[in-house]
Amino acid sequence: MDLARTDFYLDGQWSAADSRDTVAVRNPATEDVIATVPAGTAADVDRAVAAARAAFPGWADAAPAERAARLDRLHAALSARADEIARTVALELGTPLKVSTRVQTGLPLTVLHSYVELAARPPADETIGNSLVVREPVGVVGAITPWNYPLHQVVAKLAPALAAGCTVVLKPSELTPLTAYLLFDAIHEAGFPPGVVNLVTGTGPVVGEAIAAHPDVDMVSFTGSTATGRRISHLAADRIARVALELGGKSANIVLDDADLATAVKVGVGNAFLNSGQTCAAWTRLLVHRDRYDETLDLAAKAAAGYRLGDPFDPATRLGPLVSAAQRERVREHVARGLADGGRLVAGGPDAPLPERGYFVAPTVIADVDPDSALAQEEVFGPVLAVMPFDDEDEAVRIANNSRYGLAGAVWSADGERALRVARRLRTGAVDVNGAPFNPLAPFGGYKQSGLGRELGRHGLEEFLQVKAIQR
Ligand code: NAD
Repeated sequence: MDLARTDFYLDGQWSAADSRDTVAVRNPATEDVIATVPAGTAADVDRAVAAARAAFPGWADAAPAERAARLDRLHAALSARADEIARTVALELGTPLKVSTRVQTGLPLTVLHSYVELAARPPADETIGNSLVVREPVGVVGAITPWNYPLHQVVAKLAPALAAGCTVVLKPSELTPLTAYLLFDAIHEAGFPPGVVNLVTGTGPVVGEAIAAHPDVDMVSFTGSTATGRRISHLAADRIARVALELGGKSANIVLDDADLATAVKVGVGNAFLNSGQTCAAWTRLLVHRDRYDETLDLAAKAAAGYRLGDPFDPATRLGPLVSAAQRERVREHVARGLADGGRLVAGGPDAPLPERGYFVAPTVIADVDPDSALAQEEVFGPVLAVMPFDDEDEAVRIANNSRYGLAGAVWSADGERALRVARRLRTGAVDVNGAPFNPLAPFGGYKQSGLGRELGRHGLEEFLQVKAIQR
């Protein structure tokens, strides 16, 4: 299989890059280079934005049924590639194939499907007194996405933007661009009008900044680190362009004294280690009532020991590598600092055995983490769970909210009303009670430094709309 790509997708066709420079893509489980993709330039971004601008009036005026039909065809074309997508994510990111199939592929297909329906039924005009309030698409959207969910993060922007009538220029992460290329194969097959969706690959400082600073990009929708989100906000602020930001997290999983501990810990550890912990909404802080603390540590250590590291294509593997050597280094530093700051190693850690090759970190559980320490405050983005005790509900809420992030969280209790009461007190964009299932129609996004705006469902679509009041 030749994985290398040489073109961008511009104005409805595959088109040669401006420069011959390339970005290498590695398999993080073997450390081998598996492909190259073109490194875009500001000139490539200009061409993409010009195509998106030219396509905007036609797409904005297209009937909702036409936009829904295109998204439906895209869904079909993408579904036909489901196996290839799951394998490609496993290859370029290292997600175990089973998880890649279910989460990395299944989830974005579900989200895309939800926007087929939402595109067909856009929000209705409203009458307020003598005003007719109508909604219109924002315009040309620049979408900049990370590597941790290479298809989902892209679909969570493209599908609602296209459903709303916006046109798009996408820059996927340079670490995982191959999945985005498969999406654009499907986009080409779905037959969108030329210029409606465009792809430029390359690095953040070159292609990402050119998009964020482009005078003809009306909105920048970004998912990634808080530091990059801040930089993008600064660039967009110069022309008062709208930004939507999905940033980092340090979510708390609160286990109250009356919880079903076995389930809470098993699900909690699974959540923290999903995708090798490279999940922005992961419950990376486990907060447990002191009466059940020792029991919890025991359960967490046993659960962590069950996460077998290895080849993402081996069905026995439950935990793949981290995406890159740099990411592994960052995670190792976080673990070392957490232990130096007084954390007690309960599972994994720096001396645990690892496969010979690949950017692996052992599933690690650290207890007695000080809520103010770096390990409790910084996003690690690796398979590292920080555990800390609390004495009562108020203290649990205080520790959970002691964070500059506010993306997600969880509460476990035998008493649903009690859990709901605690959930309402958390300053985060989402909270799951007792392991409730993921809802792809519910708004997803952050409080505080976890971001601005919401993705998914109706709320995700509304991010890409303006309101206009017409007085009569
Ligand atoms: P990152 O911020 O380094 O990169 C994200 C994207 O931004 C990439 O495409 C990158 O090329 C681009 N980029 C980098 N520098 C840029 C610049 N100066 N200008 C414009 N674009 C630039 O993040 P990452 O390392 O790819 O992803 C990990 C981070 O993303 C974690 O902190 C994680 O929490 C966060 N994340 C958040 C969510 C969410 O929904 N809230 C989802 C996934 C990841």
